[in-house]
Amino acid sequence: MKIAAPGNIDGKILCSAIAGSVAATTGLVAGKKIKTQNQDFNKDFGIWGRVSSAEFQATQNISKIDRFKINPNNKIYILSGSSGVGKDTILKTFLSKHPEFKLSVSHTTRPIRPGEVNGVDYYFVKDEDFYHGMENGEFLEWAIFSGNYYGTKKDSLKYMLEKTDNVILKLDTKGALKVKKLIPEAVLIFVAPPSLEELEARLRGRNTESEEAIQKRLSAIKTEMKNAEKFDYKIVNDTIDNAVESLENILVPKD
Ligand code: 5GP
Repeated sequence: MKIAAPGNIDGKILCSAIAGSVAATTGLVAGKKIKTQNQDFNKDFGIWGRVSSAEFQATQNISKIDRFKINPNNKIYILSGSSGVGKDTILKTFLSKHPEFKLSVSHTTRPIRPGEVNGVDYYFVKDEDFYHGMENGEFLEWAIFSGNYYGTKKDSLKYMLEKTDNVILKLDTKGALKVKKLIPEAVLIFVAPPSLEELEARLRGRNTESEEAIQKRLSAIKTEMKNAEKFDYKIVNDTIDNAVESLENILVPKD
């Protein structure tokens, strides 16, 4: 993983390189051999028998899906980061400065939040519509997060790639690693908070969710951080300006 920093020293962007890769592994769930997305899956769930049926389904889906082919001029970037880390603000600022990049719009079953727009932030759909899409193999990847479904439809991504060469996906880290497996050219970027305490304060400050929902999100953070070790880049959101500059260093590097 490279740590992308906003500034540069002696003309060099502050990056330290650590190679990242997604290794496939196999294991047993309910007596069946399955292929999982990465080795951390094993560690995340501890014992194979404790894997939930949804996760089991997700791993089954992966082995059935063919590689998603993109044109040589297409570039796919995936931005991940724990909830409340400020991905949305960073992205909005970046996209307003670089209209040649477009954000892929995911489908979700979670309720719409104040200020969000259907078709812009997400396609907000009913559970049954999401299940229907899953059954028909319409999703490149999907995940359950805090009890809600989120997924990237293959057609939505194809449509975006027809409109622009540069598409950004905003996914959780597991989704990002799934997509990397299907589209190895995708570049994975993790947005980290300056500290875990700050992230918790931001989550509470949003005032949009119950305590239970916040606790669920906090417990997911550890896993996110661990998955992020396999990412290509990490940027720290200490200030929005710095984080946007770090993102620019990766997506639109200066000569
Ligand atoms: P939020 O509810 O805060 O908008 O998003 C919750 C989490 O779901 C975030 O980590 C976000 O990046 C992730 N997410 C959004 N869309 C997708 C998607 O299509 N697939 C996956 N795997 N994660 C998604």
